[in-house]
Amino acid sequence: MNTPVIAIHGGAGTITRSALSAADEANYHRELKAILTSAQAVLTAGGSALDAVTEAVRLLEDCPLFNAGKGAVYTRAGTHELDAAIMDGATLKAGAVANVTCVRNPVIAARTVMEKSAHVLLAGCGADAFARQQGLDIVDPTYYQTEARHQQWLRVREQSGMMLDHDAASFTFRESAHGTTPVDPIEPIDPDNKFGTVGAVALDMHGNVAAATSTGGITNKQVGRVGDTPLIGAGCYAANATAAVSATGTGEVFMRTVAAYDVAARMAYAGATLQEAMEQVVMEVLPAYEGRGGLIAVDADGNLALTFNTEGMYRGYARGGDTPVTAIYK
Ligand code: ASP
Repeated sequence: MNTPVIAIHGGAGTITRSALSAADEANYHRELKAILTSAQAVLTAGGSALDAVTEAVRLLEDCPLFNAGKGAVYTRAGTHELDAAIMDGATLKAGAVANVTCVRNPVIAARTVMEKSAHVLLAGCGADAFARQQGLDIVDPTYYQTEARHQQWLRVREQSGMMLDHDAASFTFRESAHGTTPVDPIEPIDPDNKFGTVGAVALDMHGNVAAATSTGGITNKQVGRVGDTPLIGAGCYAANATAAVSATGTGEVFMRTVAAYDVAARMAYAGATLQEAMEQVVMEVLPAYEGRGGLIAVDADGNLALTFNTEGMYRGYARGGDTPVTAIYK
């Protein structure tokens, strides 16, 4: 029996101590810890890595602090289009959805694509229709909205009209599940500020790994844009022989470098350890193409790496029944 491991991320970017108040910081730690504890319980009860990452990402989607599910960023048209993927390292089965607009939990839709369809990736209205047909939890698009993300979108539009993700300073917890006071963002937009995608990787007692990733994409993105998150090998990958990997960052670069799979390939073909492969991809390959962000990964031996080339990454892990560890800054 293996000691199970779960790790999660809630996005990487310019997350600095000065940009986060002590209260905000405490809120992030509390949410990350609660989510890790729930996913850890799945594993310590003998559950599968696949179930653990599904549960972790579902909870991250439901938490408005992160850019996935509730709290997803806005497109250029003021709408929400969500992407998610999941992969089972034991079988290499995978499922993904892109540009869904009415599914409460895109990760559940991705898993349903994997288990109930003949395909790996469904997109747009076809993916929405599939989710409805499968009886998944369907929401009005207003469900995803939060005041913080709306304000952020308005500022991005005003200041540059560029495709940007949310910046840490603009997002406070007054809009979180724990309070209702609207935020009042004042910091200028930093084009490379913060990527709020969520993800999870796990190893279960049976020696199987799995990964899942979910996102609202990047703020003010062009309608129809699909990032790395739902692309197997780019934002999400899992194979027992190598590792389970979940990404967050400048999606287009993760797509061009096939970042998640590159970690696995370095392990398989070059004999790299998980740590070496992660360092090479995150600290050498991605920056060579101006890729910013991070990856989390676990292998079948229980090695774990949470690697990022930005100032911070919301992250945490738990081994066996140990108290979860959470962190934000470098
Ligand atoms: N990688 C995501 C995307 O490009 C963004 C993120 O990580 O926040 O859609």
